[in-house]
Order: sequence, then structure tokens, then C-alpha cells
Amino acid sequence: MLGSPLRWTRSESLNLSSSRSTVLRRPEIGFVGLGHMGGPMSARLVRAGYDVVGSDLVATARAKLRALGGRTVDDVGQIGAVADIVVLILPNSDVVEAVAGQLASGMRPGAAIVDMSSSEPTRTRRLAESLSARGIRLVDAPVSGGVRGATDGTLTIMIGGDADAVPGLSELFAQLGRPISVGPVGSGHAVKALNNLLSAAHFWLTSEAVAIGIKLGIEPEVLLSVINRSSGRSGSSEAKWPSFVIPETFDSGFEAELMLKDVKIAVGLADDVNIPSLLGRDLSGLWEDALNCLPAHADHTEIAKVLLERAALSELAATVARPEERP
Ligand code: NAD
Repeated sequence: MLGSPLRWTRSESLNLSSSRSTVLRRPEIGFVGLGHMGGPMSARLVRAGYDVVGSDLVATARAKLRALGGRTVDDVGQIGAVADIVVLILPNSDVVEAVAGQLASGMRPGAAIVDMSSSEPTRTRRLAESLSARGIRLVDAPVSGGVRGATDGTLTIMIGGDADAVPGLSELFAQLGRPISVGPVGSGHAVKALNNLLSAAHFWLTSEAVAIGIKLGIEPEVLLSVINRSSGRSGSSEAKWPSFVIPETFDSGFEAELMLKDVKIAVGLADDVNIPSLLGRDLSGLWEDALNCLPAHADHTEIAKVLLERAALSELAATVARPEERP
């Protein structure tokens, strides 16, 4: 418990099931997934004075939250009984569904699960239906902005579903970034996948452009500085290459495997609406192939090393693990 001066006073008279009602107290927050994103996001909520009960499979992640003043439980199921809003930021829909199942049996009707993971929209809609039968609302609210955005509270939050019907949720989102409602439940996850289809394509092509530039005798920094003042610029040229590839830190905190998951979700959505994403399919294959050249849990920016190595180019690439070295 922080005892922060910002903590709101508690009122037992809150009617959680009333839609669009004014919150008389801050909701109790459950937070499952305290990894690269969930760690700094939950920390922001604790610092803002929320009562946060967190859970993660990793003991050190739980310990970090406790050190800040949050509470933790080993068993996710225990969170359902105490929380009004449970935030999930987990690797994928498989894990989200499993955790939601553990939570739901203990949750009060009128409570809400907010899935901030990058999940599969069709599975999100199905999950919303099954939770709704128990009186639990699901809002999807995936994010963009990376670990930096999670730390600074500047994430873009893509909301699917009726977030306004969850008392206190807009105030919670305001601590984490800029929320934008994009449509019914599942739409946030669709928008996130489409965003990352572009992001993965930009990163791949920026890396190819830099490799070609090096072969032509053009320094990466020079090429990027021109691109960043021209129409080829993107988050990859403006932020990822300068911050994580050129300094060779490769520590964006977003794993290559998670990016591939998002590209596959986007290509699946394209198939669902009979728009074959030809470039998306190729990108998915290229990304998967490159990922097989990297160690498990490699950062997505390490894809650049693979491309540079293939171009027989760089000292940067010298540290790329051979496939046989993968654990
Ligand atoms: P991460 O692997 O760092 O964190 C996920 C956490 O979930 C881990 O700490 C893991 O131990 C925990 N976890 C897994 N299964 C669990 C379970 N059954 N019960 C409790 N905890 C469990 O991943 P991340 O980078 O924080 O990403 C989380 C989600 O956010 C993903 O869906 C990802 O695609 C998305 N995302 C990540 C970033 C980024 O920059 N890292 C940006 C935007 C969106």
C-alpha cells in the first residue's frame, strides 16, 4: 500500500453494474502480465495511487511490483475476487483465454477484463461473448509505443468495445497514454495487428535500404538522416534504427516472435475479408525465416542483423547466432 495523497476515498456504495455511472472511488485493479510492457504500466498505476494486485509467472516480476507498493498473488484466480478491473498484457490469445478462464470464476458481475495484449480479434470477440454470459465485460485495448511509451505513459491505446461503460476505466487509461475508440469489441486488436503489419514491413525495408546503401558506400546515419527528412521515413527510420540498431543495443524490449505473431494476425484478417495481402504473406515468411536465425527471445530489431549478415556486410551482424546455437 502506498498511502499516496492521490488515493481516492473509498465508497462501498458503488454500483459496478451501472453503465456510464460516475466512479465514487478508484477501482481496485488486477494486473496480469508484468513483463516488458506490464511492468512499467503497472508501476505507473501504483505510483498514481491505485490499489494494484498483480500476477506473473515470473517471481522477479512480481517482486518488482511489490517493491513499488503493489500487492501480488501467485494464483491468478485470487485476483478475480478483489478486482473491479483486471488488465491483461500477455503474450497471445492462448494465454489470454487461459488466464481469463482462471479469473472469471471468481469475478463479480459488473467487473471488467481489459485485454491490452496484442491478441487475435476473432478470439477476442468470442471471449467477450462467453464472459458477457457471466456478467463480465471485456474491452480490448492494445497499445503502441513500446517500453518507452509504457514507462512515460504515452502509449497509443486502441479501444474496442464500450470502455465508457466500465466505471473508472477512462481515468486508468489516462495514466497510461492516449486512448482512441476504434469500434466494437475486437476492433482494437484488429487495428493493432494492422499497425504492426506496417511496422514490420517498415523495419524490414528500412533494413534492406540501409544494407543496399552500405554496399553503395553510403553511411547508414547519412542515409537515415535524409530518409527522415523525406517521404520514406517511418518509426523504424526515425526511432528503431537510430536508437537500437546503430548503437547495437538491440534492446527495444519487443521480441521478434511477438512481431511475427502480429503480422500473422493481420494476414489472417486479410484472408477473412477476402483481400489477399500478398506483401503481408511474403513478409510473414521472411520474418519467420529470419527469426529462425536468431536466438530465442531475440529483440525484433535484431532482424536487421540477419539482413546485414546476409548481405555479408557488417560487424553488427557478427554476433548473429547460427540456427544450431538456438537453445
Ligand atoms: P513479455 O513477454 O515481456 O511479458 C509477458 C508477461 O506475461 C511475462 O512476464 C510472462 O511471464 C507473463 N505471463 C505469461 N503467461 C502468464 C500466465 N499464464 N499468467 C501470468 N503471467 C503470465 O511481453 P511484452 O513485451 O510485455 O508484451 C506483452 C503483450 O504486449 C504482447 O501481446 C505484445 O505483443 C504486446 N506489445 C508489446 C510491446 C513491446 O514493445 N514489448 C508493444 C506493444 C504491444
